[in-house]
Amino acid sequence: MQAIKNDVEIKGAYKQFGSNVVLNGINLDVKQGELLTLLGPSGCGKTTTLNLIAGFLEADEGDVYIKGKKVTKVPPYKRDLGMVFQTYSLFPHMTVYENLDFGLKLRKVEKSEKEKKIARALELVKMSGLENRYPRELSGGQRQRVAIARALVVEPELLLLDEPLSNLDAKLRHELRTEIKRLQKEIGVTTIFVTHDQEEALSMSDRVVVMNAGKIEQISTPTSIYNHPDTEFVFNFIGKSNCFEGKIASVESRKISVQVDHDIAHVDVKNIMGSDKACHAGDEVKLYIRPEKIHISSVQETSTSREFHKAKITQLNYLGTSWEVDVLLLGKPLQILTPAFDSSWQPGSEVYVGWNPSDLMLIKK
Ligand code: ATP
Repeated sequence: MQAIKNDVEIKGAYKQFGSNVVLNGINLDVKQGELLTLLGPSGCGKTTTLNLIAGFLEADEGDVYIKGKKVTKVPPYKRDLGMVFQTYSLFPHMTVYENLDFGLKLRKVEKSEKEKKIARALELVKMSGLENRYPRELSGGQRQRVAIARALVVEPELLLLDEPLSNLDAKLRHELRTEIKRLQKEIGVTTIFVTHDQEEALSMSDRVVVMNAGKIEQISTPTSIYNHPDTEFVFNFIGKSNCFEGKIASVESRKISVQVDHDIAHVDVKNIMGSDKACHAGDEVKLYIRPEKIHISSVQETSTSREFHKAKITQLNYLGTSWEVDVLLLGKPLQILTPAFDSSWQPGSEVYVGWNPSDLMLIKK
């Protein structure tokens, strides 16, 4: 028999609350052992999608499969899931040990076996020794660690995490996301993680699902989502961007020349975003580039791959590990992120900015 490769499948899911269409045709496969993130702005349908998988909601149309079995009508408690939510969902009147014991009791696990499982789960989240504490005696980060241990102790087939880090401070979020990633790989549990934080999604996931207004815009690896976005929405939602408007001057086999004011920019034909990729001379287009892909220099560099243009600095912001340099190029603002800095630069300085045609993305207007 062929092994089942997808642990979760959603096929053609539609969901409406009143007249509000919240999921508008969602198709999704989650592979065995992967950490998949649902990423998107507030209200785009991430939690609703997670709730369909958990069984807290049923779609108006479409089906959910777990391990190849249709579970559309199966209640949550029969789906073998571990869940962690944004708010600390520990039982406040129970100790850490009792919180973990709760699910095992329901499953009638034998006492000696239970002790071993609880010790192992607490060890995994680095909370050994705190078994007798009550949730109120723990920090926010520790509580979320216990919530994760409680979800894992029952050895679920699927781990569902709904913004579990959003109530924590920046340092703790960073620490815990590294830990969740390590833990997930160590035990190999298929995990679906909901977040609206793009850095969290890019740093943790095997694959990222970018959602917008009830639809999936793109499903891909973090590097591919960042460097080769399929749509304008994905480009703008992930990371910072600069945008120029122009008109296609000519289309060759490998590059497209775009007239932007009195200048020409060249774009790799592989870098066309959107569903309409047929480009012709005269088409109105938008060009996008990330701030860190732009090179800035006091002198005009000679490079066979980069195109350099004269620009004027308007503002400089020191960010610790890099500089944010705002310039005016062809009278339009452009933001550059650079680790290298020339101490002579100040507002008003003339500089040269350049980029590789392979770093410019194009979309038809
Ligand atoms: P956030 O990041 O803010 O949590 P989300 O992407 O998880 O957002 P959902 O919680 O899935 O978004 O909600 C999607 C839309 O559905 C929102 O407009 C929300 O107001 C609406 N919605 C969600 N649950 C219900 C409900 N039970 N009844 C009515 N509308 C709902």
